[in-house]
Amino acid sequence: MTNSRNKVVLLAGGVGGAKIAEGLSQIIPDDQLIIYVNTGDDFQHFGLEISPDLDTVTYMMAGLSNPDTGWGRAEETWNALKTIELLDGPMWFNLGDKDLGNHLERTRLKNKGFKLSEVSQLFCEKYGIRQKILPMSDDQIQTMIHTVEFGFLSFQEYFVKQRCEPVIDGIKFRGIGKAQPVNGMVETIKSSKFVIIAPSNPWVSIDPIIAMKGVRSALKNKTIVAISPIIGGKPVKGPVCKMYRELGYEASALSVVKHYQGFLRGFILDHADSNFESEIIINGIIPYVTNTIMHDKNSRRKLAQETLDFCGRLNQ
Ligand code: GDP
Repeated sequence: MTNSRNKVVLLAGGVGGAKIAEGLSQIIPDDQLIIYVNTGDDFQHFGLEISPDLDTVTYMMAGLSNPDTGWGRAEETWNALKTIELLDGPMWFNLGDKDLGNHLERTRLKNKGFKLSEVSQLFCEKYGIRQKILPMSDDQIQTMIHTVEFGFLSFQEYFVKQRCEPVIDGIKFRGIGKAQPVNGMVETIKSSKFVIIAPSNPWVSIDPIIAMKGVRSALKNKTIVAISPIIGGKPVKGPVCKMYRELGYEASALSVVKHYQGFLRGFILDHADSNFESEIIINGIIPYVTNTIMHDKNSRRKLAQETLDFCGRLNQ
């Protein structure tokens, strides 16, 4: 039995979350790593239950992810999508054949009454993943992006269909008021050794997790370290900087620190942003500067090790 006080909790979105999750899995004993994943991006397409962030993390942990995109499966084929195209069906969401199998089986199990967390644990077992990957909730929460051009868009409509082009002026998490965090999440956070916030998009990957009932107060007084998803004022990928700017903030690592102010103890930022170190300290948070780009297995392990060492020093 693992002492729950040795547990490391990772709060994660998709691509940035998956990379650091895999890095941590290389060095933490399997039963000590618990990953809570954003489900605000989940949606239904062709009647299928799709959980993009859960799948991105799961594929990466299983060694099945596409190294070029960071999402989807490696060596994917697109026969189903080609048939949809021939039949003039909707083409905007990339559904690879291998990926499709995952969505079909998830949908079948959910239709039989399985909870998303049960499906996730079953998939982990089948894919040979020994760590716990759990959705933030078994209830439906929908991240809605309010845009100047189209009003509210669901996250996938904004992200994939509209390619993040519309101008954002608000974000809300539909259903969050009634939703319950996945069973055990609040208690696990409270009793964990460290909480790590992945270099995921704060607005749409991490905020929904933190907005779950009881999570923000569970984070109080814990050793919490976040890794910046913004490097030198630019994202590694995705709309994070565009979102900060359109919502009225500077797109920088410092804005990420301020985003998490109130519960953050330490912040890991890239060498490219070392000029923010003193301002981070003024904000009461301890900075740690290193290389934060994870381009392969080694760099994922290295950043994960540095993150754990940093957490350990903060805990002393
Ligand atoms: P999504 O749900 O798939 O968009 O994934 P996340 O929210 O987890 O991750 C997106 C964020 O991860 C983007 O803001 C990227 O800048 C950041 N990101 C991706 N790869 C890396 C990396 O190697 N290092 C760092 N520091 N950030 C990364």
